[in-house]
Amino acid sequence: MITFYSLLHERHAPEYEFYRGERVACFESSLRVEYVHQELIARGHGICTPSSDSREVLTQIHTGRYLNFLETAWSRWLAVDPANASSQPFPSVWPVRTLRSDLEPDNFIAQLGFYSMDNGTPMVEGTWAAAKAGADCAASAAHLVLSGERSAFCATRPPGHHAGADFMGGYCFLNNAAVAAQTFINSGVSRVAILDVDYHHGNGTQSIFYDRSDVLFISIHGDPRTEYPFYLGHSDEIGQAAGEGFNLNIPLSAGTSSDIWFEALEQACSRITHHRAEALVVSLGLDTFVNDPISRFALSTPDFSKLGARLERIGLPTVFILEGGYATRELGINAVNVLDAFDTA
Ligand SMILES: [Zn+2]
Repeated sequence: MITFYSLLHERHAPEYEFYRGERVACFESSLRVEYVHQELIARGHGICTPSSDSREVLTQIHTGRYLNFLETAWSRWLAVDPANASSQPFPSVWPVRTLRSDLEPDNFIAQLGFYSMDNGTPMVEGTWAAAKAGADCAASAAHLVLSGERSAFCATRPPGHHAGADFMGGYCFLNNAAVAAQTFINSGVSRVAILDVDYHHGNGTQSIFYDRSDVLFISIHGDPRTEYPFYLGHSDEIGQAAGEGFNLNIPLSAGTSSDIWFEALEQACSRITHHRAEALVVSLGLDTFVNDPISRFALSTPDFSKLGARLERIGLPTVFILEGGYATRELGINAVNVLDAFDTA
């Protein structure tokens, strides 16, 4: 399977995040994609640099002022204090209930809260370049599939599925799955399905397409009553307005067995077929792996081959986008197991 990959991902290299009140090394590291890249090469997959500019598509799924915030964030962080060059900006105030979220504040520190859902999304000088390259990969993969290729993979980071129209969160800045789906729509595909199999609910993707009927969003994930992102991902979220009936959440309890997980996958696949989708985008999070350090499902390495084979049987042109997965050493094998099984099914 052709893979889109950009070395620019390395420019997003935050040194720390916060976990249970402590500064810790980032779970979402450059090594993740490097292990995937190595495994792709070892198994003979072709690798391309992105050929499409996603800028126009990005303006269809993110707000202009959010994109401007992201693109200028680092220079504005330095404008607050040049000494900030050696530290990372984190938000500390958010416009929650009773506070106004309709007015963009001028203060950069306040904007960090205004444009984020958590303090789990560390940013550095190269974040915009890396995130934009990832979105370019997603647009390129969709274009390749539109040209007749059965499938394509984006070995990208930072991930994207927690990023909404105007906020970052959960290590995500630009929503790559949404970029791929919107690229399909822009080229005349009338029904697209996005299947998010990351351990964590794809709240950003859901919110971007929640009132639309042209993009069906389905997510299988840890129950938000106990699992991140906590405030979205329940089964009663079915879409609204024209999008009613085009959103399906399948939350599963932490600790769910792989047998139950594959039953949920079956339900998701049936829904995609029933929708008569013409193209599929898979938000491929591998943090459903049993040894993932921050998640609690139980998929084994062979289960990822089973996943790839089942996705192939849906029979659609498919773009795979790398999302989460923090068992770094196994990430490459697990990801490429999905792709190889898809290719050979
Ligand atoms: Zn995840």
